[in-house]
Amino acid sequence: MNGPSVAWGVLANDVDTVIPGLRSVEEADLAAKVAEEFNGLPEEEKRLYRFGELPPEPFCRQCGLCFCPEGIRISTILRWGQYCTFYGIKNWCSQQYDKLNVKVEMCTECGECEKKCPYGLPIVKMLRDTEARLASSF
Ligand code: SF4
Ligand code: SF4
Repeated sequence: MNGPSVAWGVLANDVDTVIPGLRSVEEADLAAKVAEEFNGLPEEEKRLYRFGELPPEPFCRQCGLCFCPEGIRISTILRWGQYCTFYGIKNWCSQQYDKLNVKVEMCTECGECEKKCPYGLPIVKMLRDTEARLASSF
């Protein structure tokens, strides 16, 4: 289980039940402690995590339904793009993208991913925009 601040981030959502996945008595004790001490997110963390805000449209919901025959990791790349623009995590995202063997330039524009996306996202354009952002973030 991660540290209390991550667990507080979960509890701060409008949820009835949290199932943390316990592997030891110590983790059960920590989960109980976190729940007892939770008193809302500190203002600093609300600001840092942009709590309650959604990224501007169009954004990927990470459902993972858009399998790419070329092996482009669509949802992962779009997630890094979101981290980059929405949370300002630029260098790390660019470094992760740089490590990928299959980059956006391998896209053949076959359109298969866009047919599968339940949100009707313009995935090819989003990938190209994301790559441009990640490439310019160093
Ligand atoms: S359009 Fe590009 S990203 Fe989408 S499935 Fe085809 S090759 Fe993959
Ligand atoms: S199908 Fe659409 S929403 Fe789902 S992971 Fe792919 S791009 Fe994101």
